[in-house]
Amino acid sequence: MDASVNRAALYLPELSSSTELPAQADVVVIGGGPAGSSAAIYLAQSGIDVLLLERQAFPRNQVGESLIPHFWKFTDLLGVSEKIEREGFVRKSGGITVWGDRIHQITFSRYGYDRPGLHVERDVFDRILLEHAQSCAARVFTEVSAACVDFGDAHWPTVHYTDKRGASNTQGSVRCRYVIDASGHSCLLASQFGTRRQVSSELKFLALWGYFTNSRYLGADRNSHAPEQCLEIRPVTFVMSYQHGWVWHIMLREKASVGVIVHTDRIRGMNKAARTAFFQQTCQDLPHLQALLQTASFIPGSLQFRPDYSYYATRICAENYYCIGDAAAFVDPVFSHGVQNALYNAAVATLAIKESLKNSRLRKRYSQLCESRMQQFYGFSRALSLGDFGANGVDRELVKAMMKTLPELELELLLVASAMTNRSENFKQLAREAGVWDGFAERATITAPDHIESLSL
Ligand SMILES: Cc1cc2nc3c(=O)[nH]c(=O)nc-3n(C[C@H](O)[C@H](O)[C@H](O)COP(=O)(O)OP(=O)(O)OC[C@H]3O[C@@H](n4cnc5c(N)ncnc54)[C@H](O)[C@@H]3O)c2cc1C
Repeated sequence: MDASVNRAALYLPELSSSTELPAQADVVVIGGGPAGSSAAIYLAQSGIDVLLLERQAFPRNQVGESLIPHFWKFTDLLGVSEKIEREGFVRKSGGITVWGDRIHQITFSRYGYDRPGLHVERDVFDRILLEHAQSCAARVFTEVSAACVDFGDAHWPTVHYTDKRGASNTQGSVRCRYVIDASGHSCLLASQFGTRRQVSSELKFLALWGYFTNSRYLGADRNSHAPEQCLEIRPVTFVMSYQHGWVWHIMLREKASVGVIVHTDRIRGMNKAARTAFFQQTCQDLPHLQALLQTASFIPGSLQFRPDYSYYATRICAENYYCIGDAAAFVDPVFSHGVQNALYNAAVATLAIKESLKNSRLRKRYSQLCESRMQQFYGFSRALSLGDFGANGVDRELVKAMMKTLPELELELLLVASAMTNRSENFKQLAREAGVWDGFAERATITAPDHIESLSL
């Protein structure tokens, strides 16, 4: 068994109680990833009766191990930063990209961040959040899968579920005033309503990823290091483009996560064996990645696959439901944006729900405000990650409005990150139109990522 799973099991109490599920709650949250857990925390901290249903037993595997330092501002609000710090995850200083023939480095501390980004085992990270939700008095049930939501009574939607905790599955239902869909890429409500759309872009990718023991890693000092040094010599997230897409190397405490993002056309029709062979061949063929993996062993059975992952839902909020995190939208993860998007949208949606519970006459208005705010945020992410204006689902005016409201250094960090790849044209153009570009151009010392001649791996 994976060592990080052992560690989680040692100190975290059982999440799924044997008690009966309630028949009613103020809010039902579907999904216990970062979006669902943090939504449940915000609501429970305000004394709202919240029930969270998670279909899997925790800890459960999840991809998305690189966290940019923006996430701390949300974990501070959630009151969980200390627990995350105590866990001792790998602290990263920034990123290095080899994109085409250009090598660049970005260092968070140059943009005013005094706390690091992290490389986290997501099974452990997500369980810390879920357990925190429970300790804040959210009623958390794992191994209970939401099947659908009946909105026949607009003031009391009913969530139908399958309880898988016992020897045989049982069906049940719970009434609530608001539903939060945080079911990740399965997009429970968008699938139910038929509102989930594939992003139409040149950048149609799928992901293959797996884990290696004993891999070397790339440090902030631009040298490669033995895995046991990763808590002393800070790593960077390493990203590299190649002819069919891009790859990542993320150093975790006891293993390295390696992802191969590949254009859908390149891999269409391949069975599992062929995909595994493609993954391993790519790891061997790419110069820098190959050097990091020279001493490494692939963990058998660790290869995973996510097809056609760029999508969005056309409607994500209504007077009685809110879709947040990956249940609302997701794009190419090249800028490690997913978890902080989930945390942001949980904050915005729960604010709207709290106000709606105080004044239900205005609940439609709150949901409309929330919808435009969240669509703005997801549009911003798509503009950043896709880089081509052909991408649908990007409302340029909303993105420009958001650029004007973001903290300056945060926006600058994203602009600089986009300049490390070939994805920056969209974003630069929008920044010019929004009138925020000139300010950055004046600060030329930090507006560009450090250019590097070569890496010694
Ligand atoms: C290849 C790839 C690489 C990525 N890399 C990064 C990265 O480096 N950094 C980053 O920040 N993000 C990354 N992401 C994105 C990140 O993984 C997600 O954005 C993040 O996990 C979203 O959190 P969430 O809570 O919305 O969804 P999830 O983490 O997916 O959680 C959803 C939960 O809902 C549960 N669920 C689903 N259906 C039901 C149901 N019917 N009933 C009850 N429970 C249900 C699931 O079991 C799951 O636990 C990556 C994504 C991909 C695909």
